[in-house]
Amino acid sequence: MTKKVLVVTEIKDQELRQVSFEALAVGHELSAGGEVVAVLLGENVDNLTTQLFHYGADRVVTVNDEKLKDYTTDAYQQALLQVIDKESPEGIILGHTSIGKDVSPRLAMKLEAGLISDVTAIESEEGEVIFTRPLYSGKAFEKKKIKEGIVMATIRPNNIAPLEVDESKTGDVTPVSVDIKDIRTIIKEIVRKTSEGVDLSEAKIVVAGGRGVKGTEGFKPLQELARVLNGAVGASRGACDAEYCDYSLQIGQTGKVVTPDLYIACGISGAIQHVAGMSNSKVIVAINKDPEAPIFDIADYGIVGDLFEIVPLLTEELKKVLK
Ligand code: FAD
Repeated sequence: MTKKVLVVTEIKDQELRQVSFEALAVGHELSAGGEVVAVLLGENVDNLTTQLFHYGADRVVTVNDEKLKDYTTDAYQQALLQVIDKESPEGIILGHTSIGKDVSPRLAMKLEAGLISDVTAIESEEGEVIFTRPLYSGKAFEKKKIKEGIVMATIRPNNIAPLEVDESKTGDVTPVSVDIKDIRTIIKEIVRKTSEGVDLSEAKIVVAGGRGVKGTEGFKPLQELARVLNGAVGASRGACDAEYCDYSLQIGQTGKVVTPDLYIACGISGAIQHVAGMSNSKVIVAINKDPEAPIFDIADYGIVGDLFEIVPLLTEELKKVLK
């Protein structure tokens, strides 16, 4: 049976986040040929609609409101509930991002909908849509479906490929005005911890440092390698605890979960709590001077040696091929 599916998109620095395009692909699978409606919330979002059509939206609902300029739970929840009320979708897809994780359970509760969170794959079997999600920090997977009512899911960034871009695709834009009141949080200031470069949770390449980098200075060769590869820098908790870098870079069970195409672990031992946040990376390269380090058990390529020799050599060679 075809479904109308609402895909809640996200904007960062006036651009659509990659997870929005991935969510549109999931929306398509779930809709089974029905209508995929992207929802754009923000202050001035009209210029972003074209890209959503190119990535598969059949229609775009825009909600322009100054109260939606920055994310607050109350404003987004109220705006989304009003859009959902107008559109009456049978499916709702969000990114498993800080916004998606915050707002989706609230929506599910209000709508009495089933919610499957942190989805890494979706497949259709005999007319039923089955979602896969990891358990126990990625050691096991469960396959789930929602029996009845609205189907809601949040999808883990970087796991599901977006649809092929079709620049000829267009569609209708439906502007919706909403009535937002009682916002209980006031954003005084947004302080960026990682000011430049690629967003760690969406990066295709991550260069991560552990306690083996030995200090703030030790991160510099890693930053240079990440710059050459157009990747992001991450870290183990060991490095964060030692104050070599900010906690916003922490990857693992209690940090960010990343699934890049390439993960380069430098001076990281490979504790299970770290591996929980990066083991689904497509290719893992480990650089460690201890040949017995557990990180080599999950690495596709291992380099035994001193990271301070290997990382600059690698960077210089890559500069030659990538220029
Ligand atoms: P270490 O284990 O000290 O490893 C450093 C490595 O660097 C060693 O293997 C060493 O051989 C290598 N090395 C040293 N010098 C060099 C050199 N010059 N060149 C190459 N290699 C070198 N950890 C996380 O990362 N993320 C989490 O989210 C997380 N959550 C946790 C939650 C809980 C409840 C607990 C208890 C722990 C958690 N931890 C987490 C901590 C985790 O258990 C490890 O302590 C931590 O990951 C170790 O960091 P590390 O690999 O950088 O340091």
